[in-house]
Amino acid sequence: MSKLIATRAIRGAHKLVSRAEKEFSDALKKHGPDKKVEFPNTGYYLPISHGMLGMNINTVGGLQPLLDKAKSLLHPIPDENKWVPYLGHTLDCGMAALFADEIIESLKYLQDPLPYTVMENCPEDGNFWLGAADDVIMRKRGIEFVDGTAPGFAACVGACPSTEVAVKIARELQEKNLYVFMSASNNGKSMADQLREAGVQMGWETRLVPFGSDVTSTIHALGFATRAALSFGGVKPGDYARNLKYNKMRIFAFVLAFGEVDDEKHAQAAGAINYGFPAISETDIGQILPTGVCTYEHVVSPVKPEEMIQKAVEVRGLKIQVHKIPIPVSYGAAFEGERIRGEDTWVEMGGNKTPAFEFVTSKSINEVTDNKIEVIGPEITDVPAGTQLPIGIVAEVAGRKMQEDFEPVLERRLHNFINEAQGVFHMGQRDQNWIRISKESKEKGFKIAHIGTIIHAQFHTEFGAIVDKVQVKIYTKQEDVLKWREIAKKAYNKRDERVGSMTDESTDTFYSCLLCQSFAPTHVCVVSPERTGLCGSYNWFTCKASYEINPRGPNQPVPKGDTVDALKGQWKGCNEFILQSSRKAISAMSAYSIMSEPMTSCGCFECIAAVLPLANGVMTVSREFAGMTPCGMKFSTLAGTVGGGQQIPGFVGHSKRYVVSKKFLLAEGGIKRLVWMPKALKDDLRVLFEARAKAEGVPNLLDLIADETIATTEEEVVAHLQKVNHPALTLPPLM
Ligand code: SF4
Ligand code: ZN
Repeated sequence: MSKLIATRAIRGAHKLVSRAEKEFSDALKKHGPDKKVEFPNTGYYLPISHGMLGMNINTVGGLQPLLDKAKSLLHPIPDENKWVPYLGHTLDCGMAALFADEIIESLKYLQDPLPYTVMENCPEDGNFWLGAADDVIMRKRGIEFVDGTAPGFAACVGACPSTEVAVKIARELQEKNLYVFMSASNNGKSMADQLREAGVQMGWETRLVPFGSDVTSTIHALGFATRAALSFGGVKPGDYARNLKYNKMRIFAFVLAFGEVDDEKHAQAAGAINYGFPAISETDIGQILPTGVCTYEHVVSPVKPEEMIQKAVEVRGLKIQVHKIPIPVSYGAAFEGERIRGEDTWVEMGGNKTPAFEFVTSKSINEVTDNKIEVIGPEITDVPAGTQLPIGIVAEVAGRKMQEDFEPVLERRLHNFINEAQGVFHMGQRDQNWIRISKESKEKGFKIAHIGTIIHAQFHTEFGAIVDKVQVKIYTKQEDVLKWREIAKKAYNKRDERVGSMTDESTDTFYSCLLCQSFAPTHVCVVSPERTGLCGSYNWFTCKASYEINPRGPNQPVPKGDTVDALKGQWKGCNEFILQSSRKAISAMSAYSIMSEPMTSCGCFECIAAVLPLANGVMTVSREFAGMTPCGMKFSTLAGTVGGGQQIPGFVGHSKRYVVSKKFLLAEGGIKRLVWMPKALKDDLRVLFEARAKAEGVPNLLDLIADETIATTEEEVVAHLQKVNHPALTLPPLM
């Protein structure tokens, strides 16, 4: 191995350990040994010392044994000219450096003001350094490293040669779905500073995570990896060998070192090598080529910035499927969570502002010309910035194995597929969709037609087994959209009716839907004949079809098992399934209750129901209603409160269709509990609702229910209920 690297890494470790020692003794003097140290919002100990050494450090005094351990691992600094025959000393010193880092970083949280902004995403102005990941982030993001949503991360150390290079590298890593962890600086500048200069959105949501400008903040990348192994890899605290092995085998991570690599940075690289994470350096720092700890080489340099990622992927042995979709913007799961603000939008479509829908339909093989993409009506280039356009997306597919039942399965995926384009935002489904294309993407040449390009490519990639041909028509003229929307609505209704007279009792098997876990990692929709998925797009048949297409996909059969509570809709098999697939976050779920262990909500719900305690009833509001509701929150605020995969008694997200199901809030008395809903939703459901109300013995129930023309506060609702003698008044108390 290179003599220079060993010398410099070992020297760096010595420097870091002395620095840690000094800062530790200062802190001891200032705060005393009992002062609490922790990374904020973690119900956990410091990750490296806990994971590697089994230490449970939570006070300043508790750092002493960690410091001792670091010191014990230091080896004498070798002569630069002396050959170091093996890697062992360098690796030991690398670990010592990591322990020193952890001491230094944990003490930073005692500083005033804090050097970090404790948030998930970077604020738009001011300090963007985020420091250690908290438990919420860990739960949400760590799992992606395990289930393959994110293959790993690139720890980017220092500053790129220019802002342009920094942006290019960040985008390329995002496209490969890798997290970009940024730390350290060169001459006061870091890669994150460069991204900020270029106006790039940073934070966990875009996978561009700035940890800190100090070289020691690199530890937060390794801390994250260590905790992932503990939380998701079943590794026990203190079992350092298994922890390192897990990381080597499972987490595809590497270090990209930009600019001048000083002694301390060398030490970080040596620490990372312990995890099997190689380092690729832009400047010449020599090489460590023999394989052993890492999959291939340990350190490779010099590598030109534009070749670094390719090199890293090669060296780390990373298999990435990048089906390059021919569009002028980057594409990948990392762009899924991206927000586009109104003022950054070139064109906005749907979202209750213009008529819109999306629809997948099957045709016979000779009716479809593969890859034929048409925009019928104005393109983005024909309209000025800030335009609102109607949109109707009709994807026509053909294939020998294609079936009508598969149409909604493909259709629901339009959401992720379109959202994964950089600068394109997609929400909702069916005739509730909402799309924004950013000014930046428009400037790069992104057109409405490219939505068709994406659909074509992704349908072939993801549904190659059933789809042979795909053509896409995108309507942007109001009259076409309205005309086609009616056709689509008929198909939506037909799909909804398909479940028809099937009851939950008539089957032993429900289906799961985990599609929304990319947004809400603990969310599980359990779809039964009488309860559709909360987005309204997936009913029991759709899930069944999806399972047929892909038996290992997001829709799995869920054996109901023994009944726990028939009224609440709880079954043993379902509970077990949910516990498993919510990553142990949710242990029980009542399909028919809003009060007792209700279903989790991702963010796609067509409606949100909320308890109105004074009224002894429940209101429900659908997405298209933008006004104030009697629970004191608008739909958007409610969505923020209820969404994200949590279980919140008193609130539940659901589909429109579920309102007219016999199982709607069965535990709380069914539709007789409904005391308020927007007028538009009443009109939407009228025919089916009236049939249900009749069956419940209250044929005029819909007219007894308040809407925004009658009441916008809970008090007004109560007054109305008393006036009309609403049946909720006679139901048992809700709370
Ligand atoms: Fe599946 Fe539920 Fe998401 Fe709909 S809301 S796509 S049913 S997980
Ligand atoms: Zn969802």
